[in-house]
Amino acid sequence: MNVGVIGTGYVGLVVGACLAETGNRVVCADVDERKINQLRAGRIPIHEPGLEPMVQRNEAAGRLRFTTDVGAAVEASSVVFIAVGTPPDEDGSADLKHVLAVANTIGEHMNDTKIIITKSTVPVGTARMVHDTIAAKTATPFHVCSNPEFLKEGSAVNDFMKPDRVVIGATSEDVKSTLSELYGPFIRTGNPLIFMDIASAELTKYAANAMLATRITFMNQIAELCENVGADVALVRKGIGSDERIGPAFLFPGPGYGGSCFPKDVRALLRTASERSVTLDVLSAVEEGNFRQKKRLGAKVAAVFDDALAGKRIAVWGLAFKAETDDMRESPAIDLVESLLEKGASVQAHDPAAMTNARRIFEDRIAYHDDMYDALEDADALVVVTEWLAFRAPDFQRMKAGLKTPVIVDGRNLYDPDKLRALGFTYRCIGRSA
Ligand code: NAD
Repeated sequence: MNVGVIGTGYVGLVVGACLAETGNRVVCADVDERKINQLRAGRIPIHEPGLEPMVQRNEAAGRLRFTTDVGAAVEASSVVFIAVGTPPDEDGSADLKHVLAVANTIGEHMNDTKIIITKSTVPVGTARMVHDTIAAKTATPFHVCSNPEFLKEGSAVNDFMKPDRVVIGATSEDVKSTLSELYGPFIRTGNPLIFMDIASAELTKYAANAMLATRITFMNQIAELCENVGADVALVRKGIGSDERIGPAFLFPGPGYGGSCFPKDVRALLRTASERSVTLDVLSAVEEGNFRQKKRLGAKVAAVFDDALAGKRIAVWGLAFKAETDDMRESPAIDLVESLLEKGASVQAHDPAAMTNARRIFEDRIAYHDDMYDALEDADALVVVTEWLAFRAPDFQRMKAGLKTPVIVDGRNLYDPDKLRALGFTYRCIGRSA
């Protein structure tokens, strides 16, 4: 199939590469000229395991190409994915200006019947708006359907290649059969292609992210309670996760959820609910709870030093919002670093992938270290923010030798509290008493 993917970010690039991998001819378009030039030179603008070789392989085979000419990409394709960003507007709703700009371009370049797929996360009613925007520009028949994406940054290629499910909101039988063919290679093991009406597909994506954000926030609040009653959240997690109605995944407390999806999708869903006068107060509580949680790691560091952080040097391991990505959007590390700087501390940080993006945010207000142990030199404490594998079994003796005082505040519960205390560390974590 000739496939166009408009928007070549975390989602568009993965979708394009994976569809090329299964033999389609894919053109990825983006208005960001720098990004497209980088991709044409065989360099991947994001950190995503397995993506670079896949892009290079398919580019070399002539199945994947990149362009800034969105109109030409539309003309060359019979199936067009819209995968541009949907950032939050001032009132929290999803800003659809990029999606509708693409719809406009599609309308202007509708040289043949095409299937237009909204891949971006968009509120209920967007497919209809995309349809109307295109229809205002062309008399050529076309279909619009919704196919929200569930990939996770850090395992995006694997998630797309082996999806738990593929959700498709479509009414036309032609669309259903074309998308069944397109997704066939990815669901050979029997995971379902779930067809539904367009509104349900659009809402499914928000409901999934809101449920996950709720689960995280619930565990973060149980963790806080654990600290106060002398319980251990690691044991409580095991105890509840073994109930098959609950399940063990996504029950780890941490520094609060971040990233480009959960915060904005929770906000957008709340906005949709309030526009329809529907009470979704569980989600308002989640949003507020996560806001507080993102402040707690900084407060834990301050508490170790009786709130006297002026002049202290704090090492930070991990800046990305989660492991295996370079994405810093709404990362809890931003709240932490800003609170440390505000209290007069200096910050020396290391992240295996996110330092380029971190520099755009913190500029020269913090020091950056390519080596995780160098970041510890003469620091009064280490704060672990991201659960990178490299941080999970470090050389504790080397850490102790590097740090000025052996203090670790662990936002991801990576270490064994008893072991660290036996090694002479002052150790603070989440949901386990100090
Ligand atoms: P991103 O910011 O990484 O990429 C979006 C790209 O769209 C950018 O490269 C931008 O230059 C491009 N763009 C903007 N306007 C354009 C236009 N008019 N024409 C062509 N290109 C244009 O965003 P992302 O993280 O890939 O997310 C895209 C969508 O997918 C969002 O709606 C997001 O909520 C959703 N989503 C993201 C993830 C994720 O993990 N990142 C997962 C599932 C769904």
